[in-house]
Amino acid sequence: MKLVIVGSVALDTLATPAGAVKRALGGAATHAAVAASFFTDKLGIVGVVGDDFPAAFPKLLRSRKIDLGGLSQVTGKTFHWKGRYEGDMAVAKTLHTELGVFAGFDPVLPAAYRSAPFVFCGNIVPEIQSKVLDQASRSSFKVLDTMNLWIATKKKALLNAIKRVDAVVLNDQEIRQLTGVHSLILAAKALLKAGPRFVLLKRGEHGASLISKNEYFHLPAFPTEKVRDPTGAGDSFAGGLIGSLTAAGRVDKGTLRRAMASGIVMSSFQVEDFSLWRTVKLKRPEIENRLKRLRAMTSF
Ligand code: AMP
Repeated sequence: MKLVIVGSVALDTLATPAGAVKRALGGAATHAAVAASFFTDKLGIVGVVGDDFPAAFPKLLRSRKIDLGGLSQVTGKTFHWKGRYEGDMAVAKTLHTELGVFAGFDPVLPAAYRSAPFVFCGNIVPEIQSKVLDQASRSSFKVLDTMNLWIATKKKALLNAIKRVDAVVLNDQEIRQLTGVHSLILAAKALLKAGPRFVLLKRGEHGASLISKNEYFHLPAFPTEKVRDPTGAGDSFAGGLIGSLTAAGRVDKGTLRRAMASGIVMSSFQVEDFSLWRTVKLKRPEIENRLKRLRAMTSF
């Protein structure tokens, strides 16, 4: 196993100006793992689902060669997120979050996962992220994502987890909320002092930035014309990024920049349809084509 992904595995009920879905396959770990699976097949998910989780969903994940040895199914309800996007769809409005079986989840990593070099702590209760970090102590590159809910309700536990990772992935609002600093660059610098070596800023239709002590790098979003559902954009960015790093096997300036491009391209496909409908249909040449076009539109 080379890449371990923890986070919500969810049923999503959501509406956007382009339509609506009920109890569709979603979750931070799901979106990240599917995106990463286009770059590596040595990955597994750590999470939990309830007995209401349709059998077709694990089947779909297995078809992407994602290992489910760390995904338990127990009696109870699967994590259920209800949300809505309006207008420019820049921000999701959460209508309801039902933690379900995640409420008492105590993750146990299968033996083969414990020496994985790459770990992605996708969005979920920070204590669960920390428990996974405890068990993946031999990992050399750990990335963490979160959201406004945990910044507001579990800041201390979240900062404890952030201290232990190499990179954090946040959007503009989240980093401002977490640090209390308005300037994004100063907010990123403040966060670098809290532990991680890299801050990855997701800026939606404006792309993504990488900030470290000595470096600032930015890529625009891939200009997709079709945006039907932004859910999972951030997770597929992170999944494409860590999947690409896993495939490269090392983290340096070049691999990080290429990984950001992979994340940008994966999220550009993700938003084109609801749930994972577009992403699971992707073919490798489509990804290569957008990577090439992104490179062409950013070099001068
Ligand atoms: P994003 O990439 O930020 O759009 O993440 C979307 C995914 O996050 C959805 O598929 C939801 O199931 C999941 N999600 C929403 N709220 C939470 C939460 N509080 N904790 C963990 N996952 C969540």
